[in-house]
Amino acid sequence: MPLPRPLPAVDAAALRGLAGGAVHLPGDPLYDEARMPWNLQVDEHPAAVAYPADPHEVSRTVRAAAEAGLRVAPQGTGHGAPPLAGRLGDAVLLRTSAMTGLRVDVAGRTARADAGVLWGDVVTRAGRVGLAGMHMSSPGVGVVGSSLGGGVSWYARRHGLQCSAITAVELVLADGTFVRATEDHDTDLLWAARGGSGGFGVVTSLEFDLLPIRTAYAGMLAWDWQHARRVLTAWGGWTADAPDEVTSVARIFQVPDVGWLPARLRDRKMVMIDAVALGDAETGARTVAPLRALRPEVDTFAQVPASDVAHLQIDPQEPTAVYANSVLVHGLPADAVEALVASAGPGSGSNLLFVELRQLGGALARPAPRAGAMDQLDGSFLVLGVGLDVGTGWSAVREDARRVLDSLAPWASRASYLSMAYEAAARRGWSPAAYDRLQRIRRAADPHGLFVAPQSGAGD
Ligand SMILES: Cc1cc2nc3c(=O)[nH]c(=O)nc-3n(C[C@H](O)[C@H](O)[C@H](O)COP(=O)(O)OP(=O)(O)OC[C@H]3O[C@@H](n4cnc5c(N)ncnc54)[C@H](O)[C@@H]3O)c2cc1C
Repeated sequence: MPLPRPLPAVDAAALRGLAGGAVHLPGDPLYDEARMPWNLQVDEHPAAVAYPADPHEVSRTVRAAAEAGLRVAPQGTGHGAPPLAGRLGDAVLLRTSAMTGLRVDVAGRTARADAGVLWGDVVTRAGRVGLAGMHMSSPGVGVVGSSLGGGVSWYARRHGLQCSAITAVELVLADGTFVRATEDHDTDLLWAARGGSGGFGVVTSLEFDLLPIRTAYAGMLAWDWQHARRVLTAWGGWTADAPDEVTSVARIFQVPDVGWLPARLRDRKMVMIDAVALGDAETGARTVAPLRALRPEVDTFAQVPASDVAHLQIDPQEPTAVYANSVLVHGLPADAVEALVASAGPGSGSNLLFVELRQLGGALARPAPRAGAMDQLDGSFLVLGVGLDVGTGWSAVREDARRVLDSLAPWASRASYLSMAYEAAARRGWSPAAYDRLQRIRRAADPHGLFVAPQSGAGD
């Protein structure tokens, strides 16, 4: 655990004028807008919100916060905000969205993204030159936060976690100094950036490998949820033999009548499969043929530009109040499908927006060649329960998600994927050895516990 830090008098007013004036204190006209994360479920009132535009402004803000007795919580988009709830009262929320520099090196097949860059920007820029990044399911997710947390992309079963693609990280440490961590210098910090989730500095830039992917065979199949048992059973069997080139996601989706969802699905209860297969159309079609044989009502599969893959999964783009929690499970036998459909399918009474099963395995089940704090995931599926507040309050949504995830307890892994498991104990995010090393690196980089990190608690 970090050493207790000295507590001088808290005075956020000392930060006024920093970051080119983009510091907002409680009562300021822009404070409420400035503190708002993407996930509107979180309603935090930090001591100040700062929007530095470059690493020097980050450094000055970090130093001033420490001198004022405040902690620092780095944040890009706020997609990962829930674990910070209740922890920002004595903190400066340091938002990085003004730091948007992005360079793509075509010959080297790498990208350099400043802290505020979103995956959609990388997808667009890299796509123009025939490259792809291991982006998240929603283009609005931040590159830095998702990479620090692991990063399960549509290319994950073939190419592993996004964090393993990181080649260099630039940081401002707790004392305001700058570090560039590479394979040759400050290697501990590079190791920690590869899936260690944060808590050791403010990342100002990240460099990572891109992939030479121009197109992929991708699409969605959908059925009425009355077919959930039949479809999920067949899909579970299909995933066991699927090549690493394909990554798929199945969902039981209670589609609300809202504008961000496709009109033909609105107000329906569906079971869906999204998949991305690397390679040509003929191979892709052969791979998904057994799923098509289940006679879906909707079939959008086609060979598409890699940039379209970023929009395959229908996630809300605009800031949304959403609850999510997950478990990793080993296998999906008939009993597990039964338990899942009973708790989330027809007649279950579940109010969840969707329950999603992400297919893992492949490269995600093997240690990554570039060692990092997180280099594989212990489970063959990530099962995620997601709910909106449908007027029943968050406790009802949380209870529905708990019931679904608990129903899979017999197949659950001890590990958790913390980027999508906001209620799991921190220790479960890493192997015991990696967890201990991460804590040592955090203590060395941030001896007084200046940074508020989502997963810095001890847990069981
Ligand atoms: C709609 C949606 C879709 C998603 N899809 C996927 C997916 O396909 N695959 C997947 O693996 N995950 C996915 N996630 C989870 C996502 O990866 C995490 O929520 C991630 O933390 C988001 O990163 P962010 O930077 O956008 O969020 P933020 O909330 O801004 O950041 C999360 C945390 O990262 C750290 N951090 C961010 N920026 C910095 C910085 N500059 N320096 C130091 N620390 C920093 C902080 O600890 C911060 O609290 C999804 C989440 C949502 C809501």
